Amino acid sequence: MSLAEIQQRLNKAETDAGRAPGSVTLIAVSKVQPIARVRAVLDAGHRVFGENRVQEAAGKWPALREEYGPVQLHLIGPLQTNKLKQALDLFDVFHTLDRPKLGRKLADAVQARGSCPELFIQVNTGEEPQKAGVLPTQADDFIAACRAMDLPVSGLMVIPPVDEEPSLHFALLRKIAERNGLTRLSMGMSSDFERAVALGATHVRVGSALFGARDYGKAG
Ligand SMILES: *Cc1c(COP(=O)(O)O)cnc(C)c1O
Repeated sequence: MSLAEIQQRLNKAETDAGRAPGSVTLIAVSKVQPIARVRAVLDAGHRVFGENRVQEAAGKWPALREEYGPVQLHLIGPLQTNKLKQALDLFDVFHTLDRPKLGRKLADAVQARGSCPELFIQVNTGEEPQKAGVLPTQADDFIAACRAMDLPVSGLMVIPPVDEEPSLHFALLRKIAERNGLTRLSMGMSSDFERAVALGATHVRVGSALFGARDYGKAG
């Protein structure tokens, strides 16, 4: 689907929800995609992209930024503390702050740098053992702990379980955000971004619907 078609669907979802068209940030998730597809979306004028691996992003985006100018990059995958410096050099927004140890290292690093990416805390609303994110019952405490470390948390992020109705998870994320005074919600992917917008998403992360299916075999 073209960028224009996705934007049209997004605008309709915004309007249907009584929200201003253009108020939701579309993050084009370019992980694993052939560079020609990424360029096509850049050529169409889009400048907000998401990657889930620091290493992959480091091999791709410095050159593309040189060529296309400023691109806002969102880290939407797990962050290891040993990749923190590299991630801070590359990304404008982190969506996956999810544990105290990472919070402490991040707080030290941003203090030294004097600047901080925009921060989202990932919440594991489905309480899936294999998935990253703080548990819903621990979210309030973790948000408070981040604030105590002067980390400027602006929102929450969720990846709902694949086999469950995502709306329940979007609604839970929103509730946790509201009771903690957080205004931004990173939720909704190719298959459910319209539902996420209906429930208050401010950032949707769309990959395959925009770029086509990911070929992991080829990418290695
Ligand atoms: C890959 C990925 C997406 C995009 O998924 P699609 O279903 O291809 O839109 C969104 N969010 C995260 C965290 C991802 O890893």
